[in-house]
Amino acid sequence: MNRIDPVKTACCGCGACASVCPKGAITMEADDEGFRYPSVDEALCVNCGLCVKACSIGKEKPAHTFEQQYFAAQHKDDDTVMQSSSGGIASALAAEVVKNGGAVYGAGFEAGFEVRHSRADVLSETLRFRGSKYVQSDLAQTMQEVEEDLRGGREVLFTGTPCQVHGLLLYLRAKRVPEDTLVTCDFVCHGVGSLQVWEDYVSLLATRHGSLDRYNFRGKEAGWHKSYPAIQAGSQNVSEKYKEKESFFRMYSSSVITRPSCYQCAYTSYERCADLTLADFWNIDKAAPAMNDDRGTSQVLVNSEKGAALFARVRGAAVTQECSKEDVWQLHLEFPTQSPKNREVFWKAYASQPFEQVLLRYGKHSFTAKCRRKLMPVVNKLGLYTLAGKLYKIVFVREKKQ
Ligand SMILES: Cc1cc2nc3c(=O)[nH]c(=O)nc-3n(C[C@H](O)[C@H](O)[C@H](O)COP(=O)(O)OP(=O)(O)OC[C@H]3O[C@@H](n4cnc5c(N)ncnc54)[C@H](O)[C@@H]3O)c2cc1C
Repeated sequence: MNRIDPVKTACCGCGACASVCPKGAITMEADDEGFRYPSVDEALCVNCGLCVKACSIGKEKPAHTFEQQYFAAQHKDDDTVMQSSSGGIASALAAEVVKNGGAVYGAGFEAGFEVRHSRADVLSETLRFRGSKYVQSDLAQTMQEVEEDLRGGREVLFTGTPCQVHGLLLYLRAKRVPEDTLVTCDFVCHGVGSLQVWEDYVSLLATRHGSLDRYNFRGKEAGWHKSYPAIQAGSQNVSEKYKEKESFFRMYSSSVITRPSCYQCAYTSYERCADLTLADFWNIDKAAPAMNDDRGTSQVLVNSEKGAALFARVRGAAVTQECSKEDVWQLHLEFPTQSPKNREVFWKAYASQPFEQVLLRYGKHSFTAKCRRKLMPVVNKLGLYTLAGKLYKIVFVREKKQ
């Protein structure tokens, strides 16, 4: 049998298999937790094996020969920084590519706050990509659209999770698409949250307030280190009201709603598939203290020549400082998110209880999380982020990545 048959703990749901299938025999279908997995229509399948080629499970990551470089970076434009999750470097990259006639692919909110990848080739359209959405984005037709742009010789910037980047590269290689004009950008990733739980949360907020108008997972009103969701609902700013209340982001942070494959993530290392990697620079107080104004600083890993060339083009729009490999160390550059002990209990409750009840129980900060939230800004300020992370690893990390 020359077709995919992925196991749930390994399939990242990138959809490369469905995108590459010439017969449309594979569809991505959501399971009870709301994560999409491929489903093969055997009547349509011709056993061509393209889906196996495009599937990242067990495949070697493409290696870069480039000597990796590390930077702290913050966009010079205040509004861009405030609307972005860290230092706004994703926006600088997107702006540069569209300015030169290229196309950018990223994750944005669609109607009803559905999180989906789409294409932008003018600046105004790239703005919807701004800000992290901590749920799994639907790539929809993105891989085919990227292929079309690349075959037309257009510069393309694809931004997404590390596994989406790997999926896209395998798709392009399976279809022998020229990649010279493609630049990929991923981020250090904690894991993706369930889209179904996100949809439930969106409906709950809309019901409570009459409408949900705007949602930013990482509002910076209280600063980057103490960010909390910025919410506009029923035409009012209700962020303050939700600051200490139960929230989706807390369920996400506790990892109960994380995709199963994320607990085994193969991309939590310095070896990246993407040309550039972005992240929050939590160790900024040690690495480049003068750059920490609590509005957010990005860490940038430059992984390839293509990445270096694009980053060089945007450096004028940002304040940057070169750093060391140790400076940018963070948990998910070394090991994946741990599956919490209460994951199974959570999903049982989710299946059997009204959503609001589940949210009240699991969307609150635990005592440990409250302490961590209070302690971490102090630990960071003292320049002890890396030490704290490494201690966390010794005490809490149960399974080693395979
Ligand atoms: C699910 C998720 C987990 C993350 N985990 C960590 C982590 O553990 N540690 C860490 O330091 N940083 C993490 N980040 C990255 C961090 O939140 C910032 O996005 C990153 O630092 C870039 O910030 P920025 O200010 O340059 O750009 P921003 O404007 O904040 O980022 C926007 C970019 O992210 C992309 N994007 C947003 N949401 C998604 C999504 N759901 N799927 C795919 N692409 C998306 C957009 O296409 C755009 O290119 C995570 C981001 C996401 C989406």
